[in-house]
Amino acid sequence: MIILTIESTCDETAAAVIASGPHVLGAAVATQTELHARFQGVVPEVAARAHVQRILPVIDEAIRQADIDPADLDAIAVANTPGLAGSLMVGLTAAKTLAVAWNKPLVAVNHLQAHIYACQMSDPGEIYPCVGLIVSGGHTSLYACHSATELDYLGGTIDDAAGEAFDKVGAMLGLPFPGGPSVSRAAADGNPKAHDFPRSLVGEDHLNFSFSGLKTAVRYCLVGPGKQDFSQLQLSQQQLADLCASFEQAVVDCLVAKSRQAIRQTGFSKLCVGGGVAANGRLRAALAEAADRDGFGLVIAPPELCTDNAVMGAVALEQIERHGYAELDVDIHPGLQRGY
Ligand code: ATP
Ligand code: MG
Ligand code: FE
Repeated sequence: MIILTIESTCDETAAAVIASGPHVLGAAVATQTELHARFQGVVPEVAARAHVQRILPVIDEAIRQADIDPADLDAIAVANTPGLAGSLMVGLTAAKTLAVAWNKPLVAVNHLQAHIYACQMSDPGEIYPCVGLIVSGGHTSLYACHSATELDYLGGTIDDAAGEAFDKVGAMLGLPFPGGPSVSRAAADGNPKAHDFPRSLVGEDHLNFSFSGLKTAVRYCLVGPGKQDFSQLQLSQQQLADLCASFEQAVVDCLVAKSRQAIRQTGFSKLCVGGGVAANGRLRAALAEAADRDGFGLVIAPPELCTDNAVMGAVALEQIERHGYAELDVDIHPGLQRGY
């Protein structure tokens, strides 16, 4: 079976051609980072318009790389939940149009299931059952993943996502958007113990996260309570590095603590991690150390499959096997359904 997968849930326009296996035959991603940089965050209307311009060239590129004819495709898959409404609508409309034009069945993919499945794409074994940690710009959640398409929500952020905290701290410090990679780069030579930032909810008997207090703690450290103006900041290279490293360490400590707790609570023996923040080096190293110490298996998606992409949409193959195809009147679902 050969499928086309389409991903447009947020600010990446992506398509891939996947054969059963799964094997990636072609994959293309057009990122919109430069369009959103001056707003220091993703602007939904800008994202949707950019998806309209990019979606057909991206699909063409994936098919060209795969060196197949559209007639060779067995199905068209698209992420229809969760995400930004306008962005999702562009992907779904493209998928439905091609499904009709090429007379192919449609598959509706859950984007969060896909983020965990990114781990399966790099692992020769079967990753399920596992605890899934999705840590991105819009999500920070833990799931009991019984199979590729059966996830139970265990807990998640009650305010900001971890990636959002990175992006906001990056913006406060005047670092390039998105904040995750630039805060992480600035943190490289910093002392992670320079500032004692809060590790909210760690030690509590549940699997929720909170990052807004941490973000506020960084703000107060920079300008003091009640002040908004970051333009006069005069940080030395070392002060910037120490601040970024201490912030990054606080985020990492929370993610590691709750992941270990989720492994203990579920009795599962494997942790699988996806989403943009999973590209973070300090997080990857800390999770590897925890896995070693506690004796659980760890699969972290390869960096290029951490941020949004269509290769992880290969989960559509499992969706077809377990749940069949979608009707042509399937809709978008921007919000979370039962936690995912
Ligand atoms: P969604 O949350 O809906 O999946 P998204 O576009 O916000 O969509 P991703 O594309 O998975 O999510 O990830 C982007 C986020 O990951 C941004 O917040 C970005 O700052 C963060 N990020 C990327 N690389 C790193 C890194 N090396 N360290 C920390 N954060 C990172
Ligand atoms: Mg993104
Ligand atoms: Fe995503």
